[in-house]
Amino acid sequence: MPAALIDRHGRTHRSLRISIVDKCDLRCTYCMPEDQHFLRREELMTRQEIATIARLFVGRYGITKIRITGGEPLVRPDAVDIVRDIAALPVKLGLTTNALSLHKHLDGLISAGLKGVNISLDTFDAERFRTISRRDGFNQVHANILLALQKGLRVKVNMVVMRGVNDDELLRFVELTREHPIHVRFIEFMPFAGNHWGRDCVYTYAEMLGHIGSVHSFEKLSDDPHSTAKAYRVPGWPGTFAVIGTVTEPFCGNCDRLRLTAEGKMRNCLFSREETDLLSALRRGEDIAPLIEANVLAKHAMLGGLPQFKPEKEEEVPHDLSERPMVSIGG
Ligand code: SAM
Ligand code: SF4
Repeated sequence: MPAALIDRHGRTHRSLRISIVDKCDLRCTYCMPEDQHFLRREELMTRQEIATIARLFVGRYGITKIRITGGEPLVRPDAVDIVRDIAALPVKLGLTTNALSLHKHLDGLISAGLKGVNISLDTFDAERFRTISRRDGFNQVHANILLALQKGLRVKVNMVVMRGVNDDELLRFVELTREHPIHVRFIEFMPFAGNHWGRDCVYTYAEMLGHIGSVHSFEKLSDDPHSTAKAYRVPGWPGTFAVIGTVTEPFCGNCDRLRLTAEGKMRNCLFSREETDLLSALRRGEDIAPLIEANVLAKHAMLGGLPQFKPEKEEEVPHDLSERPMVSIGG
């Protein structure tokens, strides 16, 4: 029976996000600063190191869910091999991708054991896609969402909703759930290093639900106890949607997530200020288990110890809740 990773507030951790690379073939304004510096190849965890660390989390600590992310995980040449390694473990495996090159890897990923994919898409307008992502790619990403569905993968679409940028497209994304058995997730715009976040840009989850509810009647679905999202559906439609209110209503109380950056630093919260360097210890031949346990134990009750954002309050909100940009954390 594996030991459990329990923090000082009594929460058990069963879910791990592993970033396998910090580079990306898009440069979304909300995620990657323009002057982002990337890790050198030798600083990244190797495929073998990723497998070793993942096996420890699963075998010794009972982690049951692993999500592979980046940067863009599919820019890494051995991404499919890494998926195969993790798929061989007794975990629910997911991959978060911008889907720009998904068509090139889809068959490989499926035969490696991938069953579901989270795809980021923030707009249905090709011009707007270029403005948000600083690259072209809407048609390819859209086609790849349909291809993933066609090939039988479970598909979730993540949209970061930003006031004045794409909040007018919420209903178009809800339409996706009429057209396809897709789960769409509307995410509040979160502050990270270098992403020009401002309180005025946050389109709150309450506003999202009001906006959707002004046109569609929808019903609440039950949520997984550790879910970050509140799920709904328009009755009779094949897809579902959810809102993620990390900024205005953090779900820290039942969070069971841990994170590993591409250079092997463990974070116990998306907004952590503290990290534990597992990779250097592993490369020195040390036992990394005590480091993992100490990292989890130190987890703060909420938002990595930072104050909660209240849209109605005028006091100063830290604009860089994390010292890292999202691209180097992994989402
Ligand atoms: N490149 C992949 C992708 O775009 O899906 C994986 C990495 S990306 C950092 C993971 C998720 O973080 C994406 O769904 C992205 O939309 C989300 N994200 C990035 N910056 C964000 C922000 N400032 N607020 C909310 N979500 C953000
Ligand atoms: Fe790249 Fe994903 Fe960040 Fe966009 S959200 S810059 S696709 S890592």
